[in-house]
Amino acid sequence: MKLTVLGCSGSVPGPDSPASGYLVEAEGFRLVIDMGHGAFGALQRYVRPSDVDAVLISHLHADHCIDLTAYVVALRYGGDGYRCREPEGRIPLIGVHGTRDRLEAAYDPLARKLSLHQIFTFATPTAGELGPFTLSFAEMNHPTLTHAVRVQHGDRSLVYSADTGESPELVALADGADVLLCEASVGPDEVLVPNLHMTGEMAGEHADKAGVERLIVTHVPPWNSPEVAAGEAAAAFRGPVEIARPGAEYSI
Ligand SMILES: [Zn+2]
Ligand SMILES: [Zn+2]
Repeated sequence: MKLTVLGCSGSVPGPDSPASGYLVEAEGFRLVIDMGHGAFGALQRYVRPSDVDAVLISHLHADHCIDLTAYVVALRYGGDGYRCREPEGRIPLIGVHGTRDRLEAAYDPLARKLSLHQIFTFATPTAGELGPFTLSFAEMNHPTLTHAVRVQHGDRSLVYSADTGESPELVALADGADVLLCEASVGPDEVLVPNLHMTGEMAGEHADKAGVERLIVTHVPPWNSPEVAAGEAAAAFRGPVEIARPGAEYSI
């Protein structure tokens, strides 16, 4: 499978990257994971918006979901390649219970008759098949209900942490994975608030405990250094550590 980073800036978009968004492809199937600030713009470089096969939102913090409001405009009013072909072209939108309400409120709280069911089919995160992938989920250690996901294609696997503090569930989900795409939001000089985010060192420790092949650190906010986060992670993990960059492509 192929992973393309649409955006990887943590918590807010940065000067050089949208907030969280990832495109995962295999056998022509296009799965978008998260759509934070600016990620929908970057997505258009790689796929026609109406041709996305499924969208998965890890949690409802704005830096992971707010560009769904732009996606709604494109699917409803856009031209060829943007407008949703109803009803057969509806896009599966997988997210926690309440995703639809949140999207309607963010789009326009005064006009909440959006008929979003005409462009999306809503589902909650449930383990099972999605196109060529097998998905499994784990609840993370974050202030709002947040799911990490394991995307399996054949014998290859990608695990995305979403946002989390220290999490044995993440270690279990990532057991033996080929790639762990793991958040490393907290800089070495910042106060580590429990049950919120991780440092680079913690990302490395989780990768090490899970025995993954490769670690990609992501979700570093613009006020912190990805190089420092990766350096911390490398000190705690014996495998290769890379830094997520917008536009980076990984063959998994
Ligand atoms: Zn976030
Ligand atoms: Zn979050």
